[in-house]
This record gives sequence, C-alpha cells and structure tokens, in this order.
Amino acid sequence: MTDLIAFIGVGNMGNPMSQNLVKAGKKVKVFDVSKKMIELAKKNRLDVVENLNDLITDEVTTVITMLPEGKNSKDVYLGNEGIINKVSKDCLLIDCSTIDIRTSIEIGNKAKEKGIKMIDAPVSGGVMGAQNATLNIMAGGTKEAFELALPLLKIMGKNIFHAGDLGSGNGAKICNNMSLGITMIAASESLMLAKRLNIDIKKVHEIMKNASGNSWPISVYPPLPGLIDGTPSNNNYKPGFSVGMMNKDLKLANECAKSVKALTPLGAMALEIYNKFCEEGNENKDFSAISKVVGGDAWNYPID
Ligand code: NAD
Repeated sequence: MTDLIAFIGVGNMGNPMSQNLVKAGKKVKVFDVSKKMIELAKKNRLDVVENLNDLITDEVTTVITMLPEGKNSKDVYLGNEGIINKVSKDCLLIDCSTIDIRTSIEIGNKAKEKGIKMIDAPVSGGVMGAQNATLNIMAGGTKEAFELALPLLKIMGKNIFHAGDLGSGNGAKICNNMSLGITMIAASESLMLAKRLNIDIKKVHEIMKNASGNSWPISVYPPLPGLIDGTPSNNNYKPGFSVGMMNKDLKLANECAKSVKALTPLGAMALEIYNKFCEEGNENKDFSAISKVVGGDAWNYPID
C-alpha cells in the first residue's frame, strides 16, 4: 500500500510545506476549512479533498496538521468528527501548529489511549523557511514517534530537534517566539530611531547585521522596507507571520511564565504592545508592521 499523507491546514505555512512533500515524491491529500485556501491549494496543484471525512481513509498513514491555535487542533483531532477516532492504529500524527502545551499533551494522551503515536512539532523560520524547506522543527514525543516522523520532517525543514516529551516542542517554540516578539520590537525601535536621527537606514542595517545588535529580525526579516528583498515589509506587510499569531504566541508565553512563576517583564510588555496593535485592526498584517507604532513619533507614542 502506498503511504498517504493527509495534510490539514494549508494556510501561509501549510501550503508550501505540503508542496515540499509532494516535490519529494510523497502522496499527499490536503484539506482546509477556508474556501480561499482550497482555491489557492488547487492553483498550486495540490490534491485537495473538500471534506475532512473523505480525507481520512484507511490509506492514510500520516496526518500532519498546521492550524492556527489549540482550539483548532483540539477540534480536528478530538472534536465531533475527530480524526483520532478515524485513523488506524498505525497512523502517525504530527501536529506542526504552535499551540498551548496543555492541549498538545491532552491530544497526544488521547491518541496514546488508542495506541496511536503522536508528536507535537511546531516550526520556526517563517513562510520563507516553509517555501525553502529550511524550517527549524522542534518536536516533542517519544523517541520512537520522533524517529518515525524524522524522514518527513527532514523534507519540510533543515534543523530538526527532539526537545523532549510530548508538549516540549510547543514549550520550546513558545520560548523562541517570546524572544522573537521582543526582538522584532527592539529591531523596530532601533531602525526607527536611526531614521529619526537622519542616518542612512541601509547603513545602520548593514552595521547592525555585523555588530552586537544583530538578531533574526535584523538579519533575515527587517521591519522596515527597502532592506531585504522578499520580506513582508517590502510587500506592504502582507503576512508572513501575522500580528494575530504573534499575539497568540505571546499570550501562550505569558501564561506559561505565570504557571511556573517565571519573571518575564519584556514578554509581558511585548504582549501589551502587540495586543493593542491587534485591537486597532492590524491582526492580519505581518507582525513586522509593529514598526509602525514603536519608535515612531515620540510625542504621539500610541502605547500607554
Ligand atoms: P494560517 O492562518 O495562514 O493557516 C492556518 C490554516 O488552517 C488556515 O488556512 C485555516 O483556514 C486552516 N484551518 C483552521 N481551522 C481548521 C480546521 N478545523 N480544519 C482545517 N483547516 C483549518 O496560519 P499560518 O501562518 O500558516 O500558521 C499556522 C501555524 O503555524 C500557527 O500555529 C502559527 O503560529 C505557526 N507558525 C506560523 C509561522 C508563519 O510565519 N506564518 C511561522 C512559524 C509557525
């Protein structure tokens, strides 16, 4: 029997990730609840199934999900149409969504009760990483499940890590994204300050890339246009990684920090800043658009 991968959630990340699996010769069928994403998937010649029930057949040997939040993963795996009740015991489940640790463990444990192997395997590296198959993938689960998933993870990513038990992938990802949210604000503040000081922004960017102020937002994903081709800041802040997603991840980070009494004042402030930006109607812009509200007009600084 040919292995069949059921890929659920073909948005900004899932679409290019599933395309890479197809390019590597894998048989993949995809599903998404969004008509717009289904149309895009068809345009990209992905094999689309328009109904979740028709996607999960006995042929499916792996399910990969790339969904926005914990409630979506819970719905897809454990809900009324929950795929945990439909897949065979030999089917491997890989949830690449960034979700809260508790939900991740809950889904994994329900799978385990049925004898089904599951890993959480959130990713970092953005849409460009998904397109170029250079994602960093951080997985949680048993060594056996991780090793089973490894050949597929290697197709979609470059650096693959086994972070620990189920939920550890999301734990690592949440820690990573708290830093990302903070450093995107820091990069925005620095570049906007340089602009206000009338120093050539390209020079400052080049200097920071080589000096101690470097960070991923500076070297790969600068929040101001005209610095690196192909970044959302050069494309009117079309995501990319949305403000809403960053807000979600910072909420997860702050909840985690509270639960273990870790002091994360910059994480808390970053959440406040992105949350306000979200509430102002910017949820669907790329998160690097935060540069629009930080470091700008000091006399009209919009953050309380
Ligand atoms: P997205 O919103 O573009 O894509 C998610 C897709 O899931 C959407 O197309 C949506 O319609 C679909 N979906 C939602 N509920 C569904 C359901 N019940 N059944 C089927 N499809 C469903 O989001 P994205 O940017 O691709 O991000 C996906 C996940 O990856 C998120 O958890 C995000 O935090 C994480 N992530 C994103 C990036 C990035 O740069 N975009 C980077 C790293 C990690």
